[in-house]
Amino acid sequence: LREEEAISPDGLSVAQLREMKEHAQNYTFQTEVNRMMKLIINSLYRNKEIFLRELISNGSDALDKIRLLSLTDRDVLETNSDLSIRIKAEPEKRLLHIIDSGIGMSRNELINNLGTIAKSGTAEFLSKMQDAEKSEAQEMNDMIGQFGVGFYSAFLVADKVTVVSKNNADKQHVWESDANAFSVAEDPRGDTLKRGTHITLHVKEEAADYLQPDTIRNLVKKYSQFINFPIYLWASRT
Ligand code: ADP
Ligand code: MG
Repeated sequence: LREEEAISPDGLSVAQLREMKEHAQNYTFQTEVNRMMKLIINSLYRNKEIFLRELISNGSDALDKIRLLSLTDRDVLETNSDLSIRIKAEPEKRLLHIIDSGIGMSRNELINNLGTIAKSGTAEFLSKMQDAEKSEAQEMNDMIGQFGVGFYSAFLVADKVTVVSKNNADKQHVWESDANAFSVAEDPRGDTLKRGTHITLHVKEEAADYLQPDTIRNLVKKYSQFINFPIYLWASRT
């Protein structure tokens, strides 16, 4: 785990925010996805910390995908040749950023992957989880380790999640959700990411510990030590 300054897209100005809200399209989550989110939140409240493993693993998967494409088409990396994951915490704003320079998602992929299609693995995990309600804590932990819980675990620690994503085939878009519904809009800042995905967690007050660099560093060591890409942790000097 190396420490370095991470580059995050500029904050939106008030005018840009207004422009984005005006053009945003609102969507409801698929019923299955809704059910899954409720189950995740209800069954994993004692294992909130796994959200970081899930988001880093998605970043790593996205980096694997662009690297694989680059083997047959080197040009795909022209948008950004750096392949890494960056984490930045802003405790005073209660924001946690996880940024990858992976394949990114187009507008349609944001809608489909983060709202419409319920992952089969997650469904299996949740049905096992329900059966195991009365079982040992250790058994529970083994199961959490075995199955990927997925993106929605972000809502274990966040009351709002913003996903900015840029794929080579589309313009940059912003997906945002409070877990009840979601919206997607073209990013008025333009393609600031070049390529990849920037996830911002608006961290709940009771989960503020996940904004501490030491906590983040320990979680990365605990769950993400075998990730094949550099993980940079931005730590502000105090
Ligand atoms: P899984 O990783 O098991 O497919 P997730 O719920 O973790 O399920 O993620 C759902 C999907 O959303 C992924 O399959 C992927 O297509 C997309 N996705 C999530 N995070 C990212 C990311 N950082 N970059 C690109 N795509 C992503
Ligand atoms: Mg995943």
